[in-house]
Amino acid sequence: MAINQSIFIEKSVGKNGINQPLDVEVIKKQLNGQMPLSNDRLVINGTCDPNTVDTIIDFQKSVLGFRQPDGRIDPDGKTLLALNDPASQAKWANNSNQAIQNQWAGDSSKWPQTKKLQSLNPAFSVKVQNVISALTQRGFQPKIFFGWRSVAVQQELFKKGRSKVRFSFHNAQKPDGTPNAYAADIIDKRWAWNKAAETNGFWAALGEEAKKQGLVWGGDWTGFKDVAHIQGRQNSELTKTKQESGL
Ligand SMILES: [Zn+2]
Repeated sequence: MAINQSIFIEKSVGKNGINQPLDVEVIKKQLNGQMPLSNDRLVINGTCDPNTVDTIIDFQKSVLGFRQPDGRIDPDGKTLLALNDPASQAKWANNSNQAIQNQWAGDSSKWPQTKKLQSLNPAFSVKVQNVISALTQRGFQPKIFFGWRSVAVQQELFKKGRSKVRFSFHNAQKPDGTPNAYAADIIDKRWAWNKAAETNGFWAALGEEAKKQGLVWGGDWTGFKDVAHIQGRQNSELTKTKQESGL
């Protein structure tokens, strides 16, 4: 989708704008034509809803580099000029990809627990939280060590023999690069991978609680047992998962 003609508006559109319905409608169409493929399209009507304002703000930040975007498009302003410029589409797409990469850069094992949970596929994340609650109720101190991790980190683990695959369910992402992992490594923060985790029954309890949620537990695998690892999909779905990730 791209824009094919310049639009004009009579009055301002957006935050604190006049928002005449016809003006709002043409702005929304133009925003839809310019926005990155991964963004949700605005519903075309004459209402300037919060999504419209957020999208204008995103455009002003990403394409115009405004540090303090006002979320408003004026008939003779810079934002409308940029919105009518066909080159804005590529710029918005590139900068939004870059923003996603920056947001998820760095050592994902050091992220706070909330960010690790956010890096999981949403339905899987709910089940992981259920496992963590159940283990906590049983007196353990569970935490996620790895949720999502990058393919580059995966390659390192593969080379060191700590993972058997070059692409794992930990690497799953949306096509725009947003993490969407189907695997998490859960440890007890007192013991991590020390022998005590086993003697205190942590791994067995993790396996039990994971399976109650319909998850796969790496401790059930033959040969290479990955006791901290739980995943929301079967191993047979790995190729599909890789394709869905655009990798
Ligand atoms: Zn794992």
